[in-house]
Amino acid sequence: VAFDGHAIAPETAAFLAERHQMLINGEWVDGSGEMVSTDPATGLPLASFATGGAAEIHRAVAAASAAFQGPWRRMPVAERTSLMFRLARIMEANSRLLTELDIVDNGMPSFIAGLTTANCVEMVDYYAGAIMRIAGETIAPPRHIAAETEALTYTLREPVGVAGLIVPWNVPLSTAILKLAPALAAGCTVVVKPSEMTPLSALALGRMVLEAGFPAGVVNIVNGTGPEAGAALAAHPGVDKISFTGSTATGRKIVEAGLGNLKKVALELGGKSPVVIMPEADLALAVPGVALATFFLQGQNCMAGTRIFAHAAIHDALLEGVAAFAGMMKLGHGLDPATQQGPMISDAHAAKVMRAIEGAQEAGATLVAGGSKLGRPGNFIQPTIFTNCTRDMAVMREEIFGPVMAVQRFETDDLDAIAALANDTPYGLSGSVWTRDLSTAHRLVSRIRAGQVSINCHGAVGTNIPFGGYGQSGWGREFGQAGLDAYLETKAVTARL
Ligand code: NAD
Repeated sequence: VAFDGHAIAPETAAFLAERHQMLINGEWVDGSGEMVSTDPATGLPLASFATGGAAEIHRAVAAASAAFQGPWRRMPVAERTSLMFRLARIMEANSRLLTELDIVDNGMPSFIAGLTTANCVEMVDYYAGAIMRIAGETIAPPRHIAAETEALTYTLREPVGVAGLIVPWNVPLSTAILKLAPALAAGCTVVVKPSEMTPLSALALGRMVLEAGFPAGVVNIVNGTGPEAGAALAAHPGVDKISFTGSTATGRKIVEAGLGNLKKVALELGGKSPVVIMPEADLALAVPGVALATFFLQGQNCMAGTRIFAHAAIHDALLEGVAAFAGMMKLGHGLDPATQQGPMISDAHAAKVMRAIEGAQEAGATLVAGGSKLGRPGNFIQPTIFTNCTRDMAVMREEIFGPVMAVQRFETDDLDAIAALANDTPYGLSGSVWTRDLSTAHRLVSRIRAGQVSINCHGAVGTNIPFGGYGQSGWGREFGQAGLDAYLETKAVTARL
């Protein structure tokens, strides 16, 4: 089927032609409002969807609560495992739909969307397989009881309860699945609040959850704006845990909203990640690696390496290479397989990115490449590179969430001094070190304060690899065993025998 000059699957076209409701207690229902999702590459409307606020969130939390106390808690773990494997197979069979929905809703290039859909299927399989291995331990009983009688102490791992999952727009399906899959595996029930900018893939996922046969109320999806639906979920006394991915500013609000019932809060927030290129780095690797550290996903990427520290010995050669790479990047519609960089998510976000570019120029940074918004529909901003940046410039301090790279040259070989440059940020999500010297690599890695540091690559996320932030980049970890533990409580049991 043709979509704006590109081919999409008939099932995607059919999905876009529908009006979408929200999923509460196993049923598709209307809400108090209605929004329209748009294609950021063209600005054209995609599909309308029902939205809600406090009332809909309350109904969804009540449904999740009832399902948690009822069918979901009673279901044998082997059955829960099968349900999740079934969901993974349904997602796999609908990969093209899920991929195309994220492309048109978010603007991401097809090669990224294809990759994230495959990762999402892998993640549901991974957590399905982890269910039967959830286990406590046996421990020596306390001294005062053991002194009197035989005793037994063990731990139980129990689900946290009703989890509220608040999801951003930058990798819509992925950021939903990396919360939903471990939450369900742990035995929690969930209320998902997708981003109002990118609701479509989560709605398609909702259909797949029903098709797989999950009991009503286990997965609820309520769309709406952050200040309405998101804030109501974060504050709801019936929610035991909030897992939030989004900006650091919203993260603070989530924490405040959760104070009422002291719900558990996990936060995956923003970043301003350092990329350190040492004089002995392999530039053939580093040039594309550094370019994509910043420009992957048009820079709308929490892990983006946007503070580039280049040793003076390789600064000019590196910049020449990265600028040439940036100049060759093909900007376009994500459905075009040749596209390497898509549009900014919205007019407002593009305007914010352009203000950051202008601000860097005013502050005295040297523009090496890009710097402009393309004069065509959609918010396409050229991959942009600044050098001669200094620590006090906003371009070195603030998360821009766009294709903007800030380079600072350094002369020293002292690893503590280099790490001090890298660590000069309140964030601590990701980082990378580029060098052929193994000793230098590992000594620098141990000095960088971030939840994920890569050597000769950047942003190496994986289903089984813990991911999360130091500092103001967040609380807790997602992915891997840590991602499952985040939805489990530990109960210690001691029995006098
Ligand atoms: P955002 O904070 O504006 O929104 C995220 C979600 O929170 C959306 O669903 C939104 O509707 C909701 N929300 C907004 N205000 C709210 C409120 N007051 N109460 C409750 N919910 C509210 O973030 P965004 O613009 O969607 O995403 C971009 C940000 O997300 C960037 O800062 C990026 O670094 C971060 N991010 C982090 C990670 C990570 O894993 N650390 C991953 C992706 C994105």
